[in-house]
Amino acid sequence: MTNLSNNNYQKVIRSALAYNSDNIFLYWKGRVALYAALKAAGITSGDEVIIPGLTCVVVPNAILYCGAIPVYADVRSDTLTMDVDSAKKLINAKTKAIIIQNTFGLSADVDTLVDLARSRHILVLEDCTHGFGGYFKGQANGTLADASFFSTQWNKPYSTGLGGILLVNRPECFPWLAAINSACIAPSKQELLGLWLSLQARRFLLHDASYWLLLRLFRWLSKVGLVTGSSSTQEIKSTVMPADFLKQHSPLQASTGMRALASLDEVMAMRERAALAYREVLANHNKWHVSPLHDANNAHLKFPVLINDRRAFFSAAEKAQVRLSDWFVSPIHPVENDLSLWHLDVDTIPIATALAQKLVTINTEVADVEKVCRFLSSNLGLIEPN
Ligand SMILES: *Cc1c(COP(=O)(O)O)cnc(C)c1O
Repeated sequence: MTNLSNNNYQKVIRSALAYNSDNIFLYWKGRVALYAALKAAGITSGDEVIIPGLTCVVVPNAILYCGAIPVYADVRSDTLTMDVDSAKKLINAKTKAIIIQNTFGLSADVDTLVDLARSRHILVLEDCTHGFGGYFKGQANGTLADASFFSTQWNKPYSTGLGGILLVNRPECFPWLAAINSACIAPSKQELLGLWLSLQARRFLLHDASYWLLLRLFRWLSKVGLVTGSSSTQEIKSTVMPADFLKQHSPLQASTGMRALASLDEVMAMRERAALAYREVLANHNKWHVSPLHDANNAHLKFPVLINDRRAFFSAAEKAQVRLSDWFVSPIHPVENDLSLWHLDVDTIPIATALAQKLVTINTEVADVEKVCRFLSSNLGLIEPN
C-alpha cells in the first residue's frame, strides 16, 4: 500500500465524496476490507456480530473467519434494510458489533442504529458495498459508522473489476489495523492477469448487442464449469477462510478506479433518472416500491421490485432486452440450500426470507429508460401490489 498510484487513488476517493479522512485503506476485495476491520477491532471467538438477514454470504464468512458468530436481524419489508427492533432484541453480553447494510443503494436507519450501538458500547460498521456516491440525511454514506467498507467489484457503484475500500472514522476502535494491513500480501501475477482480462471483457459488456450474446456464453460456460462468479466455490460451500485471503489492492485496480471515478457523477445522474421513472410507473399502478422518503439521495445502484413468478418475469425481460439481476434470492446470497453452516435459521427472519423469494432488481444504468418503463407497464400483472 505504498505504491504511488494507490496513493493518488486514495486522494481521489477522498475528494470524490468529501470523505475528509486520511484513514482510507485499499484491498483486493470489499470482503477483505470487512475482515480487516473485524480483525483490527479484535473480534474473536465467542463474540457475536449482528448482520441483516438479506446479505451476501461473504459478510457472515468474514465474521466466521474471525472465529465469531453471525447473528441475523430481520429487515423491514418497506425498505429492505435492517429492522431496528429486530436488531435490538439480539444484543447481549457477547455482541461486539452490528453491521448495518446499504442495500441496492438504500440506506438503513443509520442514525438510529448508530445510536443504538453506541448506547450499548458495541462497534458499528456500515456495509456500503452498494452505497458509494449516495447520501443518508445529507451525509455521505459510510461517514456515520465507526468504520465502513465499499466494494468496487464490477457490478457495484463504480468498478475496478475487483476491489475494496475501508473508511475508518474512529481509528481508536481499530487498534490492530496497522498490523493487519502489513500482513496483506500482493496479488499474484496470475490473479492480476485474470483481472486485466475481465476488465477488457467488461468493455464489451457495456454494449447492448454483445451483452446478450455474452450472457448466453457465460451461462453456458458456468454450466459446464469453465467459469465461476466473483466468489470461489469454497466461499459458497464452506466457512473456511481461503488461503491468501488477506490481499492488497493493486496498481491496476487503482488506475482503473481513477478513470471510473471521473465518470461517477454522470453515472449517478443516469441511475437516478431511471429509478425515478420506474418508480413513477409502479406508483401509478399501486405496485410495491420503496417510498421516496427512504430512497432520497441514495446511490440507486439497482431498482428493486417484488415478483410473484420470477421465471416468467426474467423471460419477458430477456425478450424485451431489459437487464435484470437476481441479487438476494436467498437471505445469504447466493447460498440456496443449507444455511446452517452460516448459523442461519430462516424462521428467525421471516420477512427477509419471504422477500428473498420475490426480489428482482432492475438495472438503473440504462440509456433507454423508456424501454424499461414500457416493459414494466406491460408486465404489471407479475409485480406485487403495494
Ligand atoms: C458485493 C458485496 C460484498 C462484498 O464485496 P466484494 O468486493 O465482492 O468482496 C459485501 N456485501 C454485500 C452486501 C455485497 O453485495
